[in-house]
Amino acid sequence: MKHLYLLAPILAIFAIFAVYFLIQTNRRPIPHYEPKQEPEVIFDAEEYLRQLKKDHKPFGTRGVHRLLLKRTRQKAGVYLESLEPALDSIGLEVVNVYHSVMGFEYVPVITSGNDWPYHAQKSKHYENKALDFRIKFLLPEEKKSIVELATKKLEGRARVIWEKGEAEHLHVELLD
Ligand SMILES: [Zn+2]
Repeated sequence: MKHLYLLAPILAIFAIFAVYFLIQTNRRPIPHYEPKQEPEVIFDAEEYLRQLKKDHKPFGTRGVHRLLLKRTRQKAGVYLESLEPALDSIGLEVVNVYHSVMGFEYVPVITSGNDWPYHAQKSKHYENKALDFRIKFLLPEEKKSIVELATKKLEGRARVIWEKGEAEHLHVELLD
């Protein structure tokens, strides 16, 4: 304990360093941040659909088809290239239904077009008049809302069938 007298000068040196450090820290320019006031975006499914319909016009049928491919993901091997143009538009309306139930960020998955050899023999899939959408991993109430909304929206133009069981999906086909 005979070196206890050294403690005072050591503490003093520490104190000096601490003060020096604080001064240095304060001297650094502090970046000035001003939060941007951005208008809150409120998603409106109806407005989105109106925009979609507006966008259709300059596109032509191939454009609508490309839009459908862009707004969805497709399961590997899905063949949609000969899809009836009317089904492209209907597919986009189904996308809109998914958006209004699941939110705008949701990307629906098309699981079948004219590509699967195991549809019923007279299936409209073979005439490029049917699409399957993935619905399997959603909550029961989400599935129900999607089926109900799609059925209502496409009434008179397309049939919406909720296929249940092992390969559960949403089947959408053009009416004759
Ligand atoms: Zn189907």
